[in-house]
Amino acid sequence: MSALISVKNLTRVFDVSKPWLNRVIERLPKAHLTAVSDVSFEVPERSVYALVGESGSGKSTIGKMVVGLLRPSSGAVEIEGVDLANSADAAAVARVRADIQMIFQDPFASLNPRWRVRSIIEEPVAVQGGDTQGLAERLLEQVGLAAVDADKYPHEFSGGQRQRICIARALASEPRVIVCDEPTSALDVSVQAQVLNLMSDLREEFGLTYLFISHDLTVVQHMADVIGVLYLGRLVEEAPRDELFATPRHPYTQMLFAAAPRMDGFGREIVPPKGEIPDPINPPSGCAFHPRCPIAVERCRRERPEMRAVGGARVACHLAQ
Ligand code: SF4
Repeated sequence: MSALISVKNLTRVFDVSKPWLNRVIERLPKAHLTAVSDVSFEVPERSVYALVGESGSGKSTIGKMVVGLLRPSSGAVEIEGVDLANSADAAAVARVRADIQMIFQDPFASLNPRWRVRSIIEEPVAVQGGDTQGLAERLLEQVGLAAVDADKYPHEFSGGQRQRICIARALASEPRVIVCDEPTSALDVSVQAQVLNLMSDLREEFGLTYLFISHDLTVVQHMADVIGVLYLGRLVEEAPRDELFATPRHPYTQMLFAAAPRMDGFGREIVPPKGEIPDPINPPSGCAFHPRCPIAVERCRRERPEMRAVGGARVACHLAQ
């Protein structure tokens, strides 16, 4: 399968310095936060790639760069070989941008409360001058709501129903790629499963490619073909889903698994993640995970591990086997 999305050495640095006058008075240097550092992965067409990590790992920043809401500081996001941020071919960039949509975590915040559902769903098509006749009704039925819901307002729906409206709006412009940023984490557990099942069905029906962002391993187990684990802005492990769940190789992945509840893990002790994510403005030397790593050795403090192939996975750890 050819890659529909290619993320190449993607890096995003934010200037988080205090205002100039404060820096002069307090004699402070400029401060920079590296939210994403040298991340590379590929997503074949019609597959689901999940990015997993704790809050602050850079996964949402990557999602925003993939949809073009943020420019990379360096590196590139290519959709069908078109570099979204740096291509000189404006027509090609506009064409591939139209193929990408995003679903956000909070379905209520991402719906205009003053618009009827019909206008919300039709908007992406209407701004392009497309045909919206019957569109909202058809999409509402495809996401498990009723055609008559088109005349209601967002506050008349539950959280799960609102996320279905967000999915309907994302589908309106017939995208090929949907970036899903924690799409179920604001929902009740019972509703989460319904929304995930719907997204799986729509993937088959519309031939969609998902970049799925989540902090929750049980959610990505449901959806993903390949999983990338992020820590402090870097990819530390990438493997096909079944391989990752059978043999997590990076100590951070193992820590996430130990902390995650499992359907087959009745009676299993749940071990909360040890330590805190370090300050990304002053990250640890060498392997950024070394202050929390139970098997760290001296080399880990001075030398950053590069990604390398281990079995069927790619892992950034000196000791992974
Ligand atoms: Fe732990 Fe060292 Fe591997 Fe980093 S490189 S995960 S500190 S063993």
